[in-house]
Amino acid sequence: MMKDEKALVVFSGGQDSTTCLYWAIKNFGKVYALSFVYGQKHVKEVELAREIARKAGVEFSVMDVSFIGSLGRNSLTDTSITMDEEKPEGGVPNTFVPGRNLFFLSIAAVHARELGIRHLVTGVSQTDFSGYPDCRDSFIKSLNVTLNLAMDDQFVIHTPLMWLDKAQTWALADELGVFDIIRYETLTCYNGVVGDGCGHCPACTLRRRGLETFLESKNSKQE
Ligand code: ZN
Repeated sequence: MMKDEKALVVFSGGQDSTTCLYWAIKNFGKVYALSFVYGQKHVKEVELAREIARKAGVEFSVMDVSFIGSLGRNSLTDTSITMDEEKPEGGVPNTFVPGRNLFFLSIAAVHARELGIRHLVTGVSQTDFSGYPDCRDSFIKSLNVTLNLAMDDQFVIHTPLMWLDKAQTWALADELGVFDIIRYETLTCYNGVVGDGCGHCPACTLRRRGLETFLESKNSKQE
């Protein structure tokens, strides 16, 4: 796609952002990964992300933005809150970290600008998930305009997963030839279990359902 250009991937080491990392490697000449420490309970997530980035041969950096976790209460950064298993009626689940993607992408844009990069890649998806407002396409498009105005620049935010459900995200990983890396080396689980995860948190449930759907359709094609 843009082999003479560089891209910066907002990278957590989970299924979605790792799929995006490999999508970026396929489409851009040089890829950088940026992870954030934001007070999440599972800080080992960052070490895992570093290792995935190392194996993928991309430059990796980490920024500490822990203040985000302390600004608003949520169950990903506050151990005293029991995690919502389901989306509550008419609201967002308490796994929502208010402002997370706003901060992440804004900081990523400043960092990218320093490196002479205008392409930003993020694994947000509107299709499958719990109604996090900062995963929606309208938010990303709006922020893209805002970042360009804020820095008089021409950023392009890429969201390869925006309209994919989890099964289609697995299919994309398979197409990119990294299915096993995504399945066994990434961390999506809210309880910090790598690969197929703890099996019962909301992130594991979503990931597993998608995986099962993908594997069923793949097997039925091969028969
Ligand atoms: Zn889990």
